[in-house]
Amino acid sequence: MTEVFDWRSAPPAEYAVIGDPVHHSLSPRMHTAAFEALGLRERYVAVHITPEEVGEALDHLRELGYRGINVTVPHKLAALEWSVKKDPFAVRANAANTLRLQDRACINTDGPGFMETVRQAGVSGSEVLMLGAGGSARAVALALVEGGFHVQVWNRTRARAEELCAMVGYGCSVASLPVLAGYALILNTTSASLSGDRLPIDWKQADPETLAYDLAYGDGPTPFLQDAREFGIRGLDGRALLVEQGALSFEWWHGGEAPREAMRRAIG
Ligand code: NDP
Repeated sequence: MTEVFDWRSAPPAEYAVIGDPVHHSLSPRMHTAAFEALGLRERYVAVHITPEEVGEALDHLRELGYRGINVTVPHKLAALEWSVKKDPFAVRANAANTLRLQDRACINTDGPGFMETVRQAGVSGSEVLMLGAGGSARAVALALVEGGFHVQVWNRTRARAEELCAMVGYGCSVASLPVLAGYALILNTTSASLSGDRLPIDWKQADPETLAYDLAYGDGPTPFLQDAREFGIRGLDGRALLVEQGALSFEWWHGGEAPREAMRRAIG
């Protein structure tokens, strides 16, 4: 379990991940491994901030000399609002996950990081079924549509899928039922596996070349990926995204190339 500091008692450090909760984050372990791999004497910690205190806490961390912050749930919108220099993709996604405190600049590395993992995995077409329409779905759907994919969104609560597609615009539409046939990529952005729930999907319908991608990750394959594997469908879990979004944050802060292999090894 990651050691978590309240923002008022944040220790001397250069980087941090902030969230509420934040104890589950693997970012401190991953970035610390990156610093060690490059011989950098820098420290990355986990800092707990409640939603009402994000602005005040970021000002405080800046005064303490923190340089960069990764932002996790539920602070990505508040981080965007705190920033003065805003990357256009972060503005379109309405979410910032990476901050540079000195000049109050922000970017969103979730969208570009996700697209890089899709490029590396290789997909055989442009049709995507996205299951879920929560906070992380937004940047991912936007990046997919801007990358030329067509995204059908199915969500347990249909109104949220409609809201997401209205935000993303052309290239995104709502699916009434999660029918798996005809997609090059079937993407799970729900948190169903965190509660041990199974999604109402039938892998028999899926094309054999489909890539099953679950943003969640656990000690072994997630239930979503286990089920896909039983039908011979290849899969990718959320560790791929965790490493790539973290590597892009690292590169934006440091300028050089991130040691991805060391970061991957650190999170198992
Ligand atoms: P949110 O809470 O914002 O959204 C949760 C989504 O899951 C909603 O669409 C919700 O549907 C749906 N959902 C929850 N439970 C069920 C269920 N039992 N059956 C069907 N749908 C369900 O979460 P996030 O978007 O922040 O995170 C989603 C997942 O992505 C998590 O597993 C998280 O760990 C992972 N993640 C991974 C990252 C990485 O770096 N790999 C980065 C960010 C997230 P409804 O609207 O109906 O409630």
